Amino acid sequence: MNINECIAKPDSPIRSYWEYMAFQHVDICIVGAGIIGLSTALECRKRFPNASITILEKAPHGHGATTRNAGLACFGSATELLHDIDVFGSDHALNIANERFLGLTSLLKRCAPDAIKYEPLGGAELIRERELQYLHRIDEVNAFAENITGDPQTYRIVSAQEQQGLGFSQAVQAVIVNTYEGQLHSGYLHATLESLARAEDIRIEHGSDVLHVNDIDEHGTLLVSSQHGEYTLHAQTIILCTNAMMSKLAPELDIKPGRGQVIVTSPIPDLPFQGAFHIDEGFYYFRSLGDRVLLGGGRNLDFEGEETFEFGHSGIIMEALETMLHEIILPKKEFCIDYAWSGLMGFTPDKKPRVSSLSNHVYCAFGCNGMGIALASRIAERIASLLEDS
Ligand SMILES: Cc1cc2nc3c(=O)[nH]c(=O)nc-3n(C[C@H](O)[C@H](O)[C@H](O)COP(=O)(O)OP(=O)(O)OC[C@H]3O[C@@H](n4cnc5c(N)ncnc54)[C@H](O)[C@@H]3O)c2cc1C
Repeated sequence: MNINECIAKPDSPIRSYWEYMAFQHVDICIVGAGIIGLSTALECRKRFPNASITILEKAPHGHGATTRNAGLACFGSATELLHDIDVFGSDHALNIANERFLGLTSLLKRCAPDAIKYEPLGGAELIRERELQYLHRIDEVNAFAENITGDPQTYRIVSAQEQQGLGFSQAVQAVIVNTYEGQLHSGYLHATLESLARAEDIRIEHGSDVLHVNDIDEHGTLLVSSQHGEYTLHAQTIILCTNAMMSKLAPELDIKPGRGQVIVTSPIPDLPFQGAFHIDEGFYYFRSLGDRVLLGGGRNLDFEGEETFEFGHSGIIMEALETMLHEIILPKKEFCIDYAWSGLMGFTPDKKPRVSSLSNHVYCAFGCNGMGIALASRIAERIASLLEDS
């Protein structure tokens, strides 16, 4: 046998014999180390204590939505819920909102609130002229939300005096609060989930870009690109958790990317509010970040343009965000923009997540529709249960 035949023997020539023997075959391989991938790995560990579990992630810290979001731990503003009732019907809307509420409860059980800097400051919504129609439906949304929180007064319109203290512009005609919501630090959330995963003997291989997934008779195969070259990996079960990028590995799935853009102000002395807020049926969202304000959204200004896999900014949306800060949120304050970034969400047509098997060895879990902090834990529980039952 000549030397070339020897080197060619393992199908991953960039791996040593040791690496090949230790890492080439795993029981469960998860693609994507976002909040769903990490939560799924942890749920799998609960159900399969002896399984070898590896997560392949193409970027250093993840490069999608989990470390680029706004950190709102919310289950739905009043106008968003009413909108969903109108568009999808009560049962469907209740299912979406209830899954978010249960997901937040699970997340806070999994991650110590201090570790992820969870602040139960409540969520609120700014009502302007165009949303006034919803104000008259506060009893309806409260009756709906009682099915979720058990509280007949989940949503409350604040008094005129309380509203004045928040410092918003005169264009804001009312503020509706929901004390069951909160906010957290998305970077620490990601780091906490990674630590929990490592403590459970789950390997996380960063810098591993999965190019292709194949299902052959006895196992699934992944073709992976790394800075040292390409290699293959075999897994009894592959779970795709790549969110907005899902269609690159499984083009048949009904998910579309949606870019989200975020800005953060300079510190603002005497910031008049704390907590998380929504405007325009949730299309804009902002929160206190210490003495700064984080604002994101505006995708509805250009749905088509924002249906992209490209990170970056659009002039029209950045301008709208800055205008919203100056004219509505902080009308009497001076500040500049210290940070700006974007991330990619994944949207399904009916706003529901997808958890399913694609073939014998390949599964998928995705579709948080911009609410992954709330939904990921439930999605992870569902995919792990599906594996257990199959
Ligand atoms: C700007 C913005 C603001 C948001 N604000 C909030 C909020 O306040 N509250 C809230 O609940 N939700 C918010 N979201 C949504 C939330 O962040 C997402 O729903 C959630 O993070 C989705 O998690 P995920 O694990 O499905 O996806 P992701 O976090 O996108 O993770 C997918 C991972 O897969 C990796 N990957 C992709 N393709 C491959 C491949 N081929 N090989 C290997 N790895 C791959 C990516 O690098 C990525 O790390 C926001 C999203 C954005 C973009």
